[in-house]
Amino acid sequence: MASKRGATTTKDTEEVPPSGALRRAAVPTRLGYSTITPDIPEINPRHAAYRLEIRESSIHRWGVYALENIPANHKVLEYTGERLNRKQSKERAGQHGGMVYLFTLDNYWTIDGARGGSGAEYVNHCCDPNLETQILKDHILFMSRRDILAGEELTLDYRFAKNVQKYECKCGSPICRGTINLLK
Ligand SMILES: [Zn+2]
Repeated sequence: MASKRGATTTKDTEEVPPSGALRRAAVPTRLGYSTITPDIPEINPRHAAYRLEIRESSIHRWGVYALENIPANHKVLEYTGERLNRKQSKERAGQHGGMVYLFTLDNYWTIDGARGGSGAEYVNHCCDPNLETQILKDHILFMSRRDILAGEELTLDYRFAKNVQKYECKCGSPICRGTINLLK
């Protein structure tokens, strides 16, 4: 019995969820055992002004959802991450391949949400978003553009430049411009 960790008698075979099982409930909550698998992105509540959660999105892979009502024109979530200068962000953009979470702070600094991100990096693009960005004293804040109801997915207009690689948009909004890039 000396090899047993924690206070429960859960069989060791139950400790690892099967691949593809991304539900938090599948992970045992034993003492000294992480309740978080690396596969499940999390919102860092320190940077969120409301209760939010990340779960699978119909727009793209993961999305951030409101767990409570959020009034218009309020700070919802801060975009955090590693701060990179112009040269570093250029290198980083080349390294990541498919998943890039670089957010331009100003014409010198970029925030890489892939390292130290609050979870804001999982907010999906929409052409008619319920969030907008506000840069305030070196902080990237996601503000509510309108009232947001509990259960709604949070979205932001990524405003990719017109002259870079085009990304098709499937946001489903009646005013979808068809691409995540700006048209002009
Ligand atoms: Zn769209």
